[in-house]
Amino acid sequence: MADYDDQNVFAKILRGEIPNKTVYEDEHCLIFHDVNPQAPVHVLAIPKGAYVSMDDFSAKASDAEIAGLIRAIGHAARELGLAESGYRILANHGRDANQEVPHFHVHIAGGERLGPMLPRRRD
Ligand code: AMP
Repeated sequence: MADYDDQNVFAKILRGEIPNKTVYEDEHCLIFHDVNPQAPVHVLAIPKGAYVSMDDFSAKASDAEIAGLIRAIGHAARELGLAESGYRILANHGRDANQEVPHFHVHIAGGERLGPMLPRRRD
């Protein structure tokens, strides 16, 4: 697993060096609007700890950090009005998933019918 790069864009957001449109914040996590939304509502939930990806977070984060992130995602989705109509959560880890930012993040997307979870396979 790659070492954590503290110059990644989400680390800079957490340090206040880059602005963000915050939806929710607590001791464990920050949730903010994606700068390039792929749905009418598209926000990102990130832990405040230095974790590269889902692999890193699931292996090293404390139970409190993991529970905190999951509870915050549910809370934010309700606050954003997505709980009834539905929403998708998604986290990319590594090359095959095209992870761009090497700080663990969970996408929360909704506000319209989102279509298939993944592109259809070509057989
Ligand atoms: P991923 O491909 O899963 O690593 O997704 C990275 C996401 O971060 C993309 O959806 C980008 O639009 C988003 N992103 C990149 N820079 C920023 C930023 N400064 N503020 C908010 N979202 C960002």
